[in-house]
Amino acid sequence: MAVLVNFKICDNAKECGGIDVCPTGALSWNEEKEIIEIDNDKCISCGLCEKECPIGAIIVAKSNEEYKKIGKEIDEDPRTTKDLFVDRYGAVAISDFFKIELEEIKEKTEKDCLTLIEVYNPDVVECLLRSIPIKDLTKNLPRDTLFYKAESYKIIDEYKITELPSLLIFKKGELLGHIDGYYTIDEKEKVISKLSGIIKNK
Ligand code: SF4
Repeated sequence: MAVLVNFKICDNAKECGGIDVCPTGALSWNEEKEIIEIDNDKCISCGLCEKECPIGAIIVAKSNEEYKKIGKEIDEDPRTTKDLFVDRYGAVAISDFFKIELEEIKEKTEKDCLTLIEVYNPDVVECLLRSIPIKDLTKNLPRDTLFYKAESYKIIDEYKITELPSLLIFKKGELLGHIDGYYTIDEKEKVISKLSGIIKNK
């Protein structure tokens, strides 16, 4: 039948697991164009590729109606790979730009401005799916607010984190509070309100 790839969130890599598992060659890598290619004449809607994609970018349609519906949902999807991979609360950073090491936390949080550090589990890629853009979380915060990501389990005990991902909020070297656990994009306002509460109470 048919498969669709949401290229808004797909990182369009040659190493795509969907290509590897496709038994018919309906998904392939075009070396010249450097893009994942779809040949829906070959697709048998087995669903193997969909199961393989950790961020839900590959979607298999079982009927023409479903194909149209999924296509519309992809057209209307506001997400981008940048939102998903780099600046989302609850998403693994692929850019080293935001990443800091455990040893750097003290130095990075000493400034007068607010500093947010997301501590995340690098093995949980499902959180890429519906996590919250950091620009939405920080839109009401001072413009000089800093944001980093730390890929480490070691600091869980030190900051009494109960669940990952966790957003640690610092100012002048002091930990103001943290928001633990995974929140879906529907719960964005809840996280924003928690964040404001922590900042206001200090
Ligand atoms: S649904 Fe099956 S045949 Fe179609 S692209 Fe995915 S893996 Fe290939």
